[in-house]
Amino acid sequence: MTGQPSTPGERGTHRELREHVAALHAELTRYQLVTWTAGNVSARVPGENLFVIKGSGVVYDELTWEGITVCDLDGGVVDGVRAPSSDTAAHAYVYRSMPEVHGQVHTHSPYAAAWAARGEEIPCVLTAMADEFGGPIPVGPFALIGDDSIGQGVVTTLKGSRSPAVLMQNHGVFTIGPSAKAAVKAAVMTEDVARTVHLSRQLGKPTPIAQADIDSLYARYQNVYGQR
Ligand SMILES: [Zn+2]
Repeated sequence: MTGQPSTPGERGTHRELREHVAALHAELTRYQLVTWTAGNVSARVPGENLFVIKGSGVVYDELTWEGITVCDLDGGVVDGVRAPSSDTAAHAYVYRSMPEVHGQVHTHSPYAAAWAARGEEIPCVLTAMADEFGGPIPVGPFALIGDDSIGQGVVTTLKGSRSPAVLMQNHGVFTIGPSAKAAVKAAVMTEDVARTVHLSRQLGKPTPIAQADIDSLYARYQNVYGQR
């Protein structure tokens, strides 16, 4: 997955990783996490100060490796035919700040974005949440697109949290992972639990899980599946 070494300005570098990331975008549409051109997946280039990310305004059905742009960790374009996603500055900030992160996903998936619009964390009331998130899915600050603000909010919220997902206030979901695939899984699971906990709220008051049980579930799951 490492692709060829980069040569700045030369199209077609890192093709294997760009194909992998292009293919992962199909999971966002498969699970109905995105509409039109919104949302994106990125992946760090192993061993280089680079990452690859969806191009701006690329339609999902037409996304191939050429729709994935190679950027440096300041968000500058190194290779590609498309301008990178408008969320590139946020992804770049996270890669600069969290060396353990090798993949990121951003969506406006509807149930999770509904929680973000209310600015309320999703409480840990399902064993699947304890497994995957190790607690509630937290809310990050309101931030405008265009500079480091979103990235700072993601990093501030997720550093020291077990959760690989944050609901950015009034915006949507940002997830991180040790791989792009892991970040995609976290985005899929975030929407899944956002929907289920919402449905539970319609029926009454969800019952919290004791912290000791959350800790035990999380430790077991992370030990078995090695998520982070
Ligand atoms: Zn967005």
